[in-house]
Amino acid sequence: MKGFIWVQRGKAMLADTPPERAVINTNTMRILILGGTSEASQLAAQLSRNARLQVITSLAGRTEAPAPTAGFVRSGGFGGARGLQVFMEDNAIDVLVDATHVFATQMTRNAIVAARAARRPYYRLCRSAWTPRDGDRWIDADDTAHAAEQLTAGAVAFLTIGRQHLAPFAARRDVVMIARMIEAPTEFLPDHLTIIRGRPPFSLPAEREILRRYRISVIVTKNSGGSAVAAKLTAAREMAIPVIMIRRPQDQPPADASTAEDMAALIERHLTGQ
Ligand code: NAP
Repeated sequence: MKGFIWVQRGKAMLADTPPERAVINTNTMRILILGGTSEASQLAAQLSRNARLQVITSLAGRTEAPAPTAGFVRSGGFGGARGLQVFMEDNAIDVLVDATHVFATQMTRNAIVAARAARRPYYRLCRSAWTPRDGDRWIDADDTAHAAEQLTAGAVAFLTIGRQHLAPFAARRDVVMIARMIEAPTEFLPDHLTIIRGRPPFSLPAEREILRRYRISVIVTKNSGGSAVAAKLTAAREMAIPVIMIRRPQDQPPADASTAEDMAALIERHLTGQ
């Protein structure tokens, strides 16, 4: 639990270290990380070890018990691009790192606009997309609605798409669904949809066990990329289970780094002016 309020002009922020640490020091650089991904937490941990960097991670506030994150943490929307710009200016943010999930398109759009308006550099940390390997049986889908349409009647589907876009699947009463998410949704769900809770990373033995135990005949996933949630793809390949793969959104900015390590190196170079 975070215990300290930091910077109150316009926005209150909860931090896990006392406010004195937040005093502006001209030798330090202040980084705002837009988070909600494991890479964002890894980056915060890595950058927080550098005494010349002050690291603030922003979370959307969707998860009630987010994983612990190093440095300062604030939670909740900014109120659009303009709100983010004001936050950056009020809190003397030097660099904005967008480490949001590749499907969090609105936040990324806002971040680009806000960084430009605040005249601060914008860096994008985004995992590389998954690509099919020999033995994979992938079916492409444009979005969640398209993925739901592609399910065949009588299938037992393992949904790993989070909890925000379940509606098109809830409408498919001819398919049994097991949906995995960090926290269960608060809204009513129909009987044919069972929730199992889990927080990444997921191991290969654990993924094999889920596919066996629930007799899964198809997996539905977004092309999130990265290793923390990739074991299900290996398990599906081994068991010849098809995967409905939701394509990444179009018109995304290119990534400046695909791992926390590479982004940390980029920020350190920025800090030293190299
Ligand atoms: P989104 O649709 O792109 O953003 C909707 C609004 O949520 C934004 O306009 C912003 O509100 C607020 N928001 C989003 N990310 C925020 C952040 N890191 N800090 C503060 N406010 C944030 O986002 P989303 O798809 O709902 O994702 C929400 C969060 O979950 C993100 O942090 C993302 O990294 C994480 N996540 C998303 C997915 C996914 O599949 N979409 C998967 C895993 C994790 P304001 O306009 O009021 O500022």
